[in-house]
Amino acid sequence: THPASDIESLFRPEIQQLSPYVPGEQPQGGKFIKLNTNENPYPPSQKVITAIQEAAAARLERYPDPLGNAFRTRAAEVLGVEPDWILCGNGSDDILTILTRSFVGQGQKLRLPYPSYILYRTLAQLQGASSEEVPFQPDFTLDARFAEMSDELRLIFLPNPNSPSGTMLPPAKIAAVAERLTCPLLIDEAYADFADTNCIELVRQNPRLMVSRTLSKSYGLAGLRFGFLIAQPEIISMLRKVKDSYNCDSLSLAGATAAIDDQKWLASNLQKVIATRGRMTLRLRELGFEVADSQANFVWCTRRDRPVQPLYEALKKDKVLVRYMNYAGWGDGLRISVGTDDQIDACLALLASYL
Ligand code: PMP
Repeated sequence: THPASDIESLFRPEIQQLSPYVPGEQPQGGKFIKLNTNENPYPPSQKVITAIQEAAAARLERYPDPLGNAFRTRAAEVLGVEPDWILCGNGSDDILTILTRSFVGQGQKLRLPYPSYILYRTLAQLQGASSEEVPFQPDFTLDARFAEMSDELRLIFLPNPNSPSGTMLPPAKIAAVAERLTCPLLIDEAYADFADTNCIELVRQNPRLMVSRTLSKSYGLAGLRFGFLIAQPEIISMLRKVKDSYNCDSLSLAGATAAIDDQKWLASNLQKVIATRGRMTLRLRELGFEVADSQANFVWCTRRDRPVQPLYEALKKDKVLVRYMNYAGWGDGLRISVGTDDQIDACLALLASYL
């Protein structure tokens, strides 16, 4: 057997130095009320289950369609684009990986706002690139530096709505930023279905602007792993060189196609989630939290009068899991996903009892 350091030295230097991306806790039992990773609290459309069962009964001995054309056709109709404007991914994390590998090389820079989705940083490090993290203004609007160009800057990730804040930048503001840039800009719209607006129209106006979406949140399909990119066809065909040949399996393609086809399910789900979001925001403010105006399926809560980490610990002991985030130079807070009304009532009652 070899000492651990010998094994480590077999890896590329970038990997040795990498701090692994740690996703939110995923307890696989123990009856937690789970409000920590922005999943949808409701099960997906029954049509999705049926489509997956049918696909499983059909032809699993064959490879899936490499491009997911059935999904692209249906999604294009729903979103008002053409099928060749869509690239399917194994979750939107796969889309983020494909983009980083395509645009950002060793010694170059990937820009992101801070605080935002921590995975972006990991993806840059994997490429031997650096992440350039531009702090948001205290009200989560963009700093002017976000739109400045440099030679090393090769790609920008901008989540909108943002996580953890849930806040949203208006598309007109994003269009103005994109106009000043010569590198590609991805608007990560993982949460955009929960918002009043989105940036899909901007993709037509600016070939360097792209939008990513996921079925993990608004379609209740975090367990399925399906996301997609909307970009101009010239971009999509270049990205095909980089993606794995069969990055989406037959079952997720069948499920995703049924999901995007069931817009009635989506509308009724969004209505429930958005109503609960409004109610929990009001109550959390009554309880003395500062809560950013959320356009997503979670809310970001901070306090000036006391530390929030003990509240996270107490909730966890009482089997309610929320996300505690502590951002260096920025501060800490609780990110609470929108659950069912019963789950949120239980969480709010516990918080009230601790305060
Ligand atoms: N982008 C953002 C901003 C997210 O919060 C998440 C979920 N953690 C993702 C992308 C990835 O979602 P998925 O891979 O499930 O599509």
